[in-house]
Amino acid sequence: MGIQQIEVYPVTLAYREPFRIAPGASTESHNVVAKIVTDYGVYGWGEASPSERVTGETPETVIKVLDKIVPKLIGMCPLRIEQTVELMDNLVAENPSAKAAIDIALHDIFGKTVRKELFRVLGGYRTDVLTDITLGIKSPKEMARDAVKAVKRGFKALKVKVGVNPEEDVERIRLIREAVGEKIHIRIDANQGWTPKQAIQALNKMEKYNIQFAEQPVPAEDLKGLIEVKRNSPIPVMADESVHSPGDALRLVEAEAIDLINIKLMKSGGIHKAEKIAAIAEAAGIPCMIGCMGESEIGIAAGAHLAAAIKNIQYADLDSDLLLKEKLAKKGGTKVKNSMRIFPKSHGLGIKELDNSKLGKPLKVYK
Ligand SMILES: [Mg+2]
Repeated sequence: MGIQQIEVYPVTLAYREPFRIAPGASTESHNVVAKIVTDYGVYGWGEASPSERVTGETPETVIKVLDKIVPKLIGMCPLRIEQTVELMDNLVAENPSAKAAIDIALHDIFGKTVRKELFRVLGGYRTDVLTDITLGIKSPKEMARDAVKAVKRGFKALKVKVGVNPEEDVERIRLIREAVGEKIHIRIDANQGWTPKQAIQALNKMEKYNIQFAEQPVPAEDLKGLIEVKRNSPIPVMADESVHSPGDALRLVEAEAIDLINIKLMKSGGIHKAEKIAAIAEAAGIPCMIGCMGESEIGIAAGAHLAAAIKNIQYADLDSDLLLKEKLAKKGGTKVKNSMRIFPKSHGLGIKELDNSKLGKPLKVYK
């Protein structure tokens, strides 16, 4: 049983509208899809959605890194995932999105080989996953209107992007809470946009609007600042950009710097290491969320299966496929109904058919 062929496809998918967060706006997501074909008729899909801002990766670096890694994988057993992860780390440091594309495709193969939906073989804790939808930065009034639209579409949790101007950020939250009422969960994400002092002031002012948690209030490398914010915030603090790897999770747990961790497959290098982060966090009593970058239905399915599988992944922000105008999956993938990610009854990730007009021809085929 071995890996026979690996195909690499660069893919560009447009957002429905420019998506703005504290560090800047995006109009397109530039991803790299990997297809791993085995010699026993099973194949798997994986995806990298690199973020230069978060991991320093671009589609070009992903393709370069895959060119180093992929030839070494031909002939390997696709079920030896721990061994493959070790090999990838020995060949190239960092570059977690590129490695995630391989890791996700191997997990798809794993589910298909044992003929089960992936979440069932990774732990099977839940059968569906509540996801939020993200509101990109606009004026406070426009964001309140977007919030109402999202609630009308059935979403029960909103992730509100802030981190531009603390006073205006408080106004965003005030208007959104007023517009959606008390029953909707509101979580916020400053994407490193505040200083510790600004964060502490803003979070104390936001307390009365019942915020579930605040993601990455201060710059990723400012550990002292993060600790200061956690100690002085009435709202639980979640690390996103500060935690990529299991090692990062351990360091922040030991420093008592955070209340929660946002795991993303594009930061961890895929599902295998994401499981390790969730385990470290669980031992420390720290719940996790699973988030996303700009993944299509492939990467989102991977995150959703993991979130359903693992008890300590208690929250999900799995919405990038909904923010993208262009769909890569023609059939299959997870769907959203009343804020819940639901799984098709098919093996592995459940991606049945991709849109060939979006996928195009492979840039590289390794065999
Ligand atoms: Mg975030």
